[in-house]
Amino acid sequence: MAAIAKQLTSENKQKYKTLIELADAHCHLYALQSGAIGDAVAAGVTTMISNGVDTKSNLKTLEIYDGRHVFPALGIHPDYAESMSNDEVEYNISLIRENRSIIKSIGEIGLDFAHVNGVKGVEKQTALFRTLVDLAMELNLPVSVHSRNAMPQVMHILKEKEAEAVHLHFFEGNANDAIEAGRRGYVVSIPPLKSNSRISAIKAIPIENLMAETDSPTANSVPSDVSKSVSIIAEAKGMQYEDAARVLTENTKRFFNISTAKFMRNAGP
Ligand SMILES: [Zn+2]
Repeated sequence: MAAIAKQLTSENKQKYKTLIELADAHCHLYALQSGAIGDAVAAGVTTMISNGVDTKSNLKTLEIYDGRHVFPALGIHPDYAESMSNDEVEYNISLIRENRSIIKSIGEIGLDFAHVNGVKGVEKQTALFRTLVDLAMELNLPVSVHSRNAMPQVMHILKEKEAEAVHLHFFEGNANDAIEAGRRGYVVSIPPLKSNSRISAIKAIPIENLMAETDSPTANSVPSDVSKSVSIIAEAKGMQYEDAARVLTENTKRFFNISTAKFMRNAGP
């Protein structure tokens, strides 16, 4: 009996959880199975920001967005800064310009000094990052930024450019970086991976500046794993899961300018 009761409780909990609307602030849906979007929506993940990283994935991202649950971000990941020709960079920039009205962010862009070939590589990554931040500011779009082993340089360039709509994804910074990000009004997204430094970073930044993400398929995750990111944030903030989920989903929609008005057709007179 006890075992059945326990099972029912956890089933109910699961059911209740699925009623809570979640948002995945950063994923790569082009790299997931085609059923992944339906599975995510069924699990309550009703908003997903799907990021491209190169020409092929940017084009695929434009194919799979639906403007209802899936919203596109287009960018060039720093891993491609060295190998991509200038013509191909220009092609991706024109793709972003042409699709300005549907894309929600320029991402994934940034700096990755864990994957870089010497000074030349650093220069190429930095130049590409600067170009794409300029483009985002010109088009009045946010940036979704990847930073690995490069937090001081990323923060320096964003400050120099006076970028305001900044999303630091898979946040790798420490508590001081989080405080500085919060001070500048940036938002930071947290993956479903717990670490001590991430917990102190979450504690150091207001909940209004946080979002949950999966970066799926990284670490074999899928968008519904965003519930784990929400749990990590809720625990660090001492909040109920449901309250944290509501605020984080609102933050994500607000940051990416996603209107929910179309779901409220019957609300007016
Ligand atoms: Zn990513």
